Amino acid sequence: MDGHPEAIVDLDVIRSNVAAIVRHVQGAAVMAVVKSDGYGHGALPTATAALAAGAQWLGVGHVAEAIALRQAGITAPVLCLLAAPDAPHEDAIRHNVDLSVGTVELLRQICAIAARVGLPARLHLKADTGMSRGGAPMTAWPDLVAAASAEQAAGRCQIIGVWSHLACADIPGHESVDAQLETFRRALGIAERAGLRPVVRHLANTPAMLTRPDTWFDLVRPGGGVTGLATLPGGPPDWLRPAMTVRAHLVQAKRVPAGTGVSYGHRYTTTGETTLGLVPLGYNEGVPRAGTNTAQVLVRGNRVTIAGTVCMNQFVIDAGDLPIQAGDEVVLFGPGNHGEPTAQEWADALGTISYDIVTRFTAKIPRSYCGVTRADSLAVRIATSGSQAPADWPDLAQAGSRED
Ligand SMILES: *Cc1c(COP(=O)(O)O)cnc(C)c1O
Repeated sequence: MDGHPEAIVDLDVIRSNVAAIVRHVQGAAVMAVVKSDGYGHGALPTATAALAAGAQWLGVGHVAEAIALRQAGITAPVLCLLAAPDAPHEDAIRHNVDLSVGTVELLRQICAIAARVGLPARLHLKADTGMSRGGAPMTAWPDLVAAASAEQAAGRCQIIGVWSHLACADIPGHESVDAQLETFRRALGIAERAGLRPVVRHLANTPAMLTRPDTWFDLVRPGGGVTGLATLPGGPPDWLRPAMTVRAHLVQAKRVPAGTGVSYGHRYTTTGETTLGLVPLGYNEGVPRAGTNTAQVLVRGNRVTIAGTVCMNQFVIDAGDLPIQAGDEVVLFGPGNHGEPTAQEWADALGTISYDIVTRFTAKIPRSYCGVTRADSLAVRIATSGSQAPADWPDLAQAGSRED
């Protein structure tokens, strides 16, 4: 027995999250951000589910991710959020992928490629309004706008968007949000006076989408929210549901006496006679080593804490007198519907954010999908993307309508 660790993604949950977001933002368009393989949920299935539920845009990190979506048949506008001088810009232009530019240099470089290819580049001008990551600071903004306006007049680009990103939207009441919003409005004013008429002005990530309607403009860019996560204190509101469950099965259970040292360094010692269970997941598979003696899992309907050091491929639980056996399901985190911890609880226990938890697992353990409803094309695309068919998953299967 290998303990069958897997990450199960419920696509119906993603669809209902996105449908709820579309309703929530009252007329603003929704860009589902599916960077980092859809926050570990699978970029293509997540994107397809999001589009089916009313998202009109997709956001990715790198050009290669955008082209993978195009090659899978996705025709919706896709924006690469990250700008880099050495990105494959020609491929992006040929695949109708939107690019971000925050410097005159990159603008000219991309527009020269567009001229050679004979297709205008679709660009979103990025203002740095206070995040101090990518984008043009206000000192450089008027020059960027003027250069973009000239390139657009020459037919080498279309200015599709003007955008920025918030640094502290998940710290409610943080004064920088107002300051960034005001700077963004100034940037928009400068762009308009230069004659630019962007199709979409966008600023809001998940926490701003949830808490600050004044940041929505034409388009919001939730990523975590699509998968039912948020970086706000306490996590997402309950109208967003986590879509990912990570589970495995015990590979061994054994009775041990009081005073038994457990795992490397004996950082845990049993206090009485008890039953230990062995879970075949470790830090190689994504369980943070900081989960040692800290994070909880669900087994036989009960929460138990990881006992002792998380190893490379395994960890131990102390199940007390629970009648655990090899083969028992162990749920690390999920939507929380059945008493299991959520990724938010893991994050709170470990001093990080839920995104850092869910993105850890799916590179190393198989991912499967449930909740594929109605959209035949969705099922086809998932099948052809190499992911597994809906798993035998008795608990989550009851949660929603499965394949009908
Ligand atoms: C990742 C990202 C988002 C999405 O952030 P969430 O908090 O997951 O909604 C939006 N915009 C940009 C620029 C990003 O990098």
